Parts: sequence; structure tokens; C-alpha cells
Amino acid sequence: MAATLHALTNADLHSHSQVSDGTLSPDAVAARAAAHGVELFALTDHDELGGQRRAREAALDHGIGYLAGVEISVTFAGETVHIVGLGIDPEDAALQAGLAATRSGRRERAQRMADELARAGVPGALEGALRYVGNPELVSRTHFARFLVETGVCSSTHEVFRRFLADGKPGFVPHTWARLGDAVRWITGAGGIAVIAHPARYRFSPSAEYALFSEFVAHGGRGVEVMTGSHSEPERVRYADTALEFDLLASRGSDFHSPEESRTELGSLPDLPGRLSPVWEALAHRVQWP
Ligand code: AMP
Ligand code: MN
Ligand code: MN
Ligand code: MN
Repeated sequence: MAATLHALTNADLHSHSQVSDGTLSPDAVAARAAAHGVELFALTDHDELGGQRRAREAALDHGIGYLAGVEISVTFAGETVHIVGLGIDPEDAALQAGLAATRSGRRERAQRMADELARAGVPGALEGALRYVGNPELVSRTHFARFLVETGVCSSTHEVFRRFLADGKPGFVPHTWARLGDAVRWITGAGGIAVIAHPARYRFSPSAEYALFSEFVAHGGRGVEVMTGSHSEPERVRYADTALEFDLLASRGSDFHSPEESRTELGSLPDLPGRLSPVWEALAHRVQWP
């Protein structure tokens, strides 16, 4: 397919499979993206590249373009920040080693989360969460949330995070993830572009947020998600302005995790505002087409 990219391309460059905390297989996410009109797709599992080959093959089989992707967990100024890498080479050794190091503490963290939840009156949470885990190296809070909903402790994942798993709640265990500069270098070293994921979700003061964007750019970061499933309309406008202020490319991605849980369907976000430069145009040379 001699495909062309433009500002109105239906690009969905943020999604998850069972290889991290989504519920569908990598190929099923890609197939679902194609069925929902996505023309350029990226699977961006947390800290893990194990789904890339299956997602790429399924995307190409379904006639859509593919960009390799990942979402790296970073600790910046005491908060967890997510950095999406797009157009990376999944075989890059330094990127793979960095992601393996980032994943390495998850199992101990999960044990401590289960201990905290048991103290809060919810026993058996590790065994319960593990029933939802597709990748033993990637036990995440989302898997605990599914267990707490399934067992009726909470009625929604939103309630789970509000009552148990968010910072300051009884099941929250602080964790130190990758450093911002390392994550950006792993991505750019693998031929990709680093993008700040869902910027409105962080609880930074204005000066800490300014520091995040400034340091991100200083390390070689080049993009920001403006259109994401968790941004309200005012937040889209605000981060469109931020993209222009820091001269960043803009990205668009649903952050789809599951047909049952995701608030935004694959491929369903509005187009980027016309005043922004789409990150996918800068990655045209990294796209794989059918
Ligand atoms: P972890 O990497 O184990 O800390 O898990 C983070 C994941 O939890 C995110 O990628 C989301 O999928 C999910 N998550 C975080 N906060 C919330 C929330 N308030 N509601 C629903 N899911 C959330
Ligand atoms: Mn997630
Ligand atoms: Mn995220
Ligand atoms: Mn995500």
C-alpha cells in the first residue's frame, strides 16, 4: 500500500494489550483498531516490547500502517510520569535492557501491595491479581483493580483507584521507575521519538510541570499527547498551547486497555487542532505499511 500521512490521518498511537495491562491480545488490539477506522496504529504496552511483532503483523494483515511503540514508566519530581516512545526499533539492545530494568521491581511491589491490601481487609489480592496477568514480569495496579471489581469489593476500577490504589491510599506502594533522561535516550537511541503521555493526569504544580517539559526537551524529547482518552476539551486546548510553547510535535492516542473498561474506543478521538504538527508526519520513515 502506498499510503500517505497527513494531519487528518486516523492515527491511534497509544494502546495496551495483555502483554501489559490490557485485556486483548496484541493481534486483537490491532484488528480492533483497523475495524474502528484506524489508519496508523501503535501498540504501546507499559515497559515491554513483547507484543510488537504480533501487533505489527496483525496491523499489516488488516491493511493499516504500524509504528512500533512503548510506554515507559518514569519517576520525575516524586511523581510517576509516562513517556511514550514511537517509531522505535524493538530489537534495540539498550532499549530492551532499560525496559527490563524498569520492569524488574514489579513483582516485589505487587507483593507489598497485596500485604497492604490484606491489612486494609482485602486478603488474597496477589493471587487474585495474578489471574488477570498475561505477562509475569508485568503485574500492574490494573490487574489488582480487576480482582477488586470481580470480587465485589468495589463496583468499578475508578472506585478501586479512588479507595485503594492511588497515591496515599492503603494499597499504594511507592515505587521508583526509570529516570526521565534515560527513558528519552532509550527511545531516541532506538530511532524513535519520545512523547509525554496524557500530561493532564499528573498532579504537578505549574513550576514542576514547566520543569518536566523543559527537562524533557533538554534530554531530546520531541512530542506531547494532546488528544488522549483521558483529556477533557479544556485540557486538549491547554496542551495544544503547551505543544506550541515548547515547539513539540503533537500525538493522538486513545490509551485503550479493554472493550469493557476503556472510556475511549480505538480511533475515536477528534483530529488534532490544525495549528499543531502531528508526530506521525515526523515518523513517516519509521512506519511499516502492508
Ligand atoms: P502501574 O504501572 O502498575 O502503576 O499501573 C498504572 C496503570 O493503572 C495505568 O497505566 C492505568 O492503566 C491504570 N490506572 C492508573 N490510575 C487509574 C485510575 N484512576 N483509574 C483507572 N485506571 C488507572
Ligand atoms: Mn495502563
Ligand atoms: Mn499511561
Ligand atoms: Mn497507557
